[in-house]
Amino acid sequence: MADIQVFNTLTGKKEVFKPLSGNAVTIYDCGPTVYDLSHLGHARTFIVWDVVQRYFRHAGYDVTYVRNITDVDDKIINRARERGINPDQLARQFTFEFWRDMKSLNVLPPNFEPRATEYISRMIDFAQELVSKGFAYESGGDVYFDVAKFKDYGKLGKQNLEQLMHGAREQVRSQEDLKAAKKTPLDFALWKHSDQNDLGWDSPWGRGRPGWHLECSTMIKHVLGESIDIHSGGEDLVFPHHENEIAQSESLHSKPLAKYWMHNGFIQVSAEKMSKSLGNFQTIQDLLVNYSADTIRLLMLQTHYRNPIEFTAESLIGAKTAVSRLVRAASYAKSNGSEKIDLKKSEDQNIKTFASEFEEAMNNDFNTAVAISTLFAFADKIQQADEKLRPAYAQALKAYANLLGLQLDDNRRILDTTTASRIMDLVVELRQSAREKKDYATSDLIRKQLTALKINIMDIAGGGTDWEKL
Ligand SMILES: [Zn+2]
Repeated sequence: MADIQVFNTLTGKKEVFKPLSGNAVTIYDCGPTVYDLSHLGHARTFIVWDVVQRYFRHAGYDVTYVRNITDVDDKIINRARERGINPDQLARQFTFEFWRDMKSLNVLPPNFEPRATEYISRMIDFAQELVSKGFAYESGGDVYFDVAKFKDYGKLGKQNLEQLMHGAREQVRSQEDLKAAKKTPLDFALWKHSDQNDLGWDSPWGRGRPGWHLECSTMIKHVLGESIDIHSGGEDLVFPHHENEIAQSESLHSKPLAKYWMHNGFIQVSAEKMSKSLGNFQTIQDLLVNYSADTIRLLMLQTHYRNPIEFTAESLIGAKTAVSRLVRAASYAKSNGSEKIDLKKSEDQNIKTFASEFEEAMNNDFNTAVAISTLFAFADKIQQADEKLRPAYAQALKAYANLLGLQLDDNRRILDTTTASRIMDLVVELRQSAREKKDYATSDLIRKQLTALKINIMDIAGGGTDWEKL
């Protein structure tokens, strides 16, 4: 098995990936908080980790990829209150929307998708154990993690505890923080008390709900175990979310929570620039109206996952054009009804070189930017290749593009329903004009052909024509 290098946020350097056990790879990725539609930031994050799990599988590892659903959170509670619905109803609605978006973007489903509300009693047990071991304390119905008790606090974000304590004291504190009786401002809630009418569960500390960080530590423990190979997420999660997960899990288990911590960069969208050129859009669903999953994925993956992306209208249009180039080359795969070839056994030097260049890029900390450039170089090769070789080459192109979740389906002659309706209006207009010129041969031919397509043309008394699909 080839070495895969991964950049580990914990050590601040690239390392050769070695699983904790055999060839099994356990990955936990922080999933969405389901209170609204997913935006481009979610698209980037989940596309990146989708590619990582696909590639580990391709490299021969046995991957278990877990992505949670945060379905209890202040944002959910507040949004549900604004809408006058139950928080559970809101969370379920946006969980379905999230699934729909991920499917549309060709993001593979995780092996397990735990929901926070299914783990409440285990979270209470987790918090209770931390209290009994002296790492957490109760205060007025809340339970806080005592950060001063965890000497490694800050190790993921390379900040030392002294500086963090100082910084936290200087910060303007929220109303909630001022009310909370914490020992130090860095202490974070494992459990927050709830008022009688608010969402809550019974606990040894009274009615309340869990803190967000506790959710991930608890679900990792119960779904994957006390130590996992990779914990991933957006770089905004390094502090405090992942730092707090480490504090909770490592205090309780006295072993590393994750061997590798991997984080993806931001995507910057200038709302002003975008709305001028493309109209106002914010969500994945808005974008999917006019752009394919392949276009969105190519755009996201053209930049290395750790670098920031500046999302512009030009880059989106550029990605769309680039995808058509790949689709044209891939379309040879189906010609001549050629048999499916076994790429791993292929002796063709061009395929072998292409595959090894692609893999070399991906083995280098998932450098999808370089991997994509190998796809384009090979697409050019296909156009220049002997006709007999093209189907096999095109199959190879599709197979490797698919490791990036690109499908390269040839949709160039498939019409959407709006376009098809407009074309029908045009046909009806042409028939009308033939009738006006008394060219009945043409107008009858059009009617006959449309009838064969189960489309009925109706001349309206007093002029005009209408049509319907039978
Ligand atoms: Zn998390």
